[in-house]
Parts: sequence; C-alpha cells; structure tokens
Amino acid sequence: METLKYVPKSIVVTMRGAQISQPGGDFEIVEREIPKPGRGQVRIKVQACGVCHSDVLAKEGLRPGIQYSRIPGPEVVGFIYQVGDGVSNWGMGQRVGVGWHGGHDGTCRECRRGDFNSCRNLQIPGISYDGGYEEYMVAPVEALVSIPDSLNDAETAPLLCSGVTNYNSLRHSGAMPGDLVAVQGIGGLGHVGIQFAQKFGYEVIAIGRGQEDAALAEKLGAIEYIDSHTTNAAAELQRLGGAKAILATAPSAKAMSELVNGLAPHGKLLVVGASSDLIEVRPIQLITGSKILQGWSTGTPADSEDTLHFAKLTGVRPMVEMYPLEKTAEAYARMMSGKAQYRVVLIMRHH
Ligand SMILES: [Zn+2]
Repeated sequence: METLKYVPKSIVVTMRGAQISQPGGDFEIVEREIPKPGRGQVRIKVQACGVCHSDVLAKEGLRPGIQYSRIPGPEVVGFIYQVGDGVSNWGMGQRVGVGWHGGHDGTCRECRRGDFNSCRNLQIPGISYDGGYEEYMVAPVEALVSIPDSLNDAETAPLLCSGVTNYNSLRHSGAMPGDLVAVQGIGGLGHVGIQFAQKFGYEVIAIGRGQEDAALAEKLGAIEYIDSHTTNAAAELQRLGGAKAILATAPSAKAMSELVNGLAPHGKLLVVGASSDLIEVRPIQLITGSKILQGWSTGTPADSEDTLHFAKLTGVRPMVEMYPLEKTAEAYARMMSGKAQYRVVLIMRHH
C-alpha cells in the first residue's frame, strides 16, 4: 500500500459534511467516513467552498442521474491531504482548488480534439460526485487547479466558477483594449466581471436595475452606470458608440433580449447568467452588423489557473459573505435570496 505512508499519525476516521438525501430535501449536517482517494485521485482537506446558484441542480434534483445522498459544492479550495496511486505531479500539502470542471474522460471526440471543457462525460463536483460542502473531498487530478500563495481561501473559491466564467468569456470575446464593453447585472458574477473588464483595459459600462448599485459599479471600475429601469440601455450603448461585447450576467432573458440592439457591428452578447426563459431576438437584429449571440460555460482547470494568476497580478477579488459548514442551509438560503453581497462561501473549521 503505497499510499499508507501519507496517512497522518493521529488518524481521524470521520468528518462532517452537508448532504442532500433526496431531490428537494433540506441540508443535513452528517458525520461521514473520510473518503479515500482512488487511483489518479487526491484527497483534499477543504478550507472553503463557494455556494453557487448551480447548487440548485443537486439540491432540487434538476439534473438526471444524480445519486443521493449527495454533497454539493463546485467551488472548492483546500490542500492535498492524501495522494492516490499513480499520481506523480501533485504532492502532499499543495494548495489546490476544484471548480465546475471536475474531470474529463480524455477519450471522447471533443477531448481527442483538446476541447476538454466540452467533454461528453464531463464530471461536475457536487453533481457527478461529492463536492466541497464537507471537510475532506476526493477529486481526480485532471480537475485540480493550483492556487497561488497570495490568494486567500474565501476569495479564491468563487474565482473557480464565476471568476473563470467572466475571465474566459471576456478574453475570448474579441474585444480589444480600449473597446467599449458592457457588463449587465451587478451581482455574484457581474461584480467580478466589471473588475476583469476594467483590468483588461476596456471602457466598461455597467448596466443594472435601480440606482443602488451605481456607486459600487463605479468603484469596481465602470466609467458609467446605466439604470435600465429609467434608461433605454441599448440606445445609451449606441449613443456611446456600441458595445464590442456585452457580458450578460443577470439571469434574465428579457433583460438580455433588450441589449442586443446595444451591440456594435461584430459585437458579441456573452450569455453567462443561467435562466430557462427565452431570449427573443429577430434575425434581422443579428444580420445587421453581423452580431453574435454566444453562451459561455466556465473553463478548464488550466483556464482557472490563468484566472487566478491574473487576479493575483491585478487585484481582482470577489466580495464574499462567510458562513461555517453547520450553517449551510442558511448560507444557501442567503445565496438563493439574491441579496448576498456578493458571493456566499462556506469556511471549514476542522476539529
Ligand atoms: Zn471527453
């Protein structure tokens, strides 16, 4: 047993986790056996885990094939506490994270073309296997993200999901430094999106509902704030020259539909706020000026490392509210209320 040498002297055999026993069930704080890493896996001592809106999929059973009981949590930060067989490039004590991209098969058509993010058998922590709402979790090495020392646990967790989504979609948007870029929604995604956009050198316009977020949007790097309650945001973007990209983060298809006319020629509406209602756009709106409507889903672990490196260099950080594991239900409710400022993160206190 090659792995035995890594087991610490005082062997703790159980840990706490927040599980969902059945679709639609409540969070239960349970004592469980500490999971062991298999071949090609590591055990992570979890330090922090973001509470993401996508956790609703596991909690309510909105995705087929989820096996219960299930521990949610796809924004995990910790350090490697045990290494499984066959793992050579990651070591004990190394700070790591796991985001939405929780593993790929390496054999499907997309993986063979190097498009790991589109893997047909993509694994998602908290959905395909237990995520980070627990003191220790097991993850495959291809899902691991190396974390720079200067980033703290609580602020790093959301960067592995909302952070990489913002960073990756913007850097592939085609917008160049100095271009006009709008960020719609000043929430969990948008308040980080504004920062990335500003650090990329864009002329950033923030779009929100009401005046309450205006001061924060400008503090985060927007040069102008548009209140879509009182102003036609698309018309205002056109008055400013048209947006090369609009990062649409608020989960409102109606609000997104209203922004298509704010795009510059060849401009791109980046759809990242997940909702299931319909975006309405007339073909002629897209044809005139060859506009583009594009969805975007997070990124690979390597993309997450790029995101963290950039955040380290530029100071981009999410704003977080922290809760202990035993208050998972409260933390989840706070996230679902939409009132959190702006990301909710569980902090582990190991005993
Ligand atoms: Zn694959």
